[in-house]
Amino acid sequence: MIVFDLICQPAGHRFEGWFASSEAFADQQQRGLVDCPHCGSTAVAKAPMAPAVPKKGNQLPAATQAAPVAAGLPPEALAVMEKLAKMQAEALKQSRWVGEDFADQSRAIHYGEREAEPIHGQATLAEAKELLEEGIAVMPLPFPVVPPDQAN
Ligand SMILES: [Zn+2]
Repeated sequence: MIVFDLICQPAGHRFEGWFASSEAFADQQQRGLVDCPHCGSTAVAKAPMAPAVPKKGNQLPAATQAAPVAAGLPPEALAVMEKLAKMQAEALKQSRWVGEDFADQSRAIHYGEREAEPIHGQATLAEAKELLEEGIAVMPLPFPVVPPDQAN
């Protein structure tokens, strides 16, 4: 069995019709055996197909990644954020990117196991909480940082 979305020509009623095959539908349509359940018209045709749903595989990974967003902010606020983002970028120039090693590296610095220097990287919320509980001053960065190995 095959189901077609059908539409009657005079009134544009949409309805579904079940047929043994595509040929069976064409045959019944020609002989006027397919009629609209709403108005009885036998002038029916296949309805245009619904728009195709985009395939997930076609999407770029970047498009599916969540990122901080804002809308409707006044221009002054945007200007402040832009300034802060620049200040963060400027401040991080003095700091070394350690990526996912952040928790280990900041611990090593805190306990004097390595030379002290400003670092930044990635930490989970749980890691950050542990570090704070150990008395290590970590703070979340207000703006996302593109890791150097991912920057163009
Ligand atoms: Zn109709």
